[in-house]
Order: sequence, then structure tokens, then C-alpha cells
Amino acid sequence: MFCCGKHVKIEAEVCADPVWCLCGANLELDAFPLSEELTEQLWEWNVQYGEWLEESDYDDDLLVQRLGKEAIEDFNRRGKELAMRVRKELGEDVQVHFSPLKMRE
Ligand SMILES: [Zn+2]
Repeated sequence: MFCCGKHVKIEAEVCADPVWCLCGANLELDAFPLSEELTEQLWEWNVQYGEWLEESDYDDDLLVQRLGKEAIEDFNRRGKELAMRVRKELGEDVQVHFSPLKMRE
């Protein structure tokens, strides 16, 4: 399930699992020994991003424009919370990182 070292980065992506290695390799979410509930919520969070992006013609800037800062902040808050739960479930020897959706000012 890990790639180079016990690192997991949580980042929403279209047509990919929301878990990554620090080298950029996409990891398989379902391979991690996470609770069913948390796995499901991570998928839901990821699908939300995919739907937003699809509605915005796959343009990140347009997505931010359409949704507004608050929706993005909510989304990032949710992602961070999920990342913290991943850390809790995987244990102390796994480094969990979180990569928020970026907003251009
Ligand atoms: Zn790697």
C-alpha cells in the first residue's frame, strides 16, 4: 500500500484515489486498513471534488470562482479532518500529510 516510506498525502483528485505518496505516485485507498466509514467518507469527499470540477469544465480557477472561498474552505476543513482521522487509524509511524485545494487570490 505504501510506495517510498510510510507517507500518505491526502489530496482530492479526479479519476484517481485521494491518497498519494510524497513522490507523486497515486496509492490505492482501499488497500489501507482504514475503517469502512472513514474509507467511504474519503471517497465521498473525493467524488465531491470530481463533480465540482466536472461542472467547471475541469478548470480549477473557474471552480473557485463558481463555488466561492467559503465552500473551498469548508472542503479543505473536511479534508483536514479526514486526514487527521487517517493518522489516528494508521498509527504513529505513518506520516500523514494533507494537501488543500488551492485558491488563487
Ligand atoms: Zn513514492
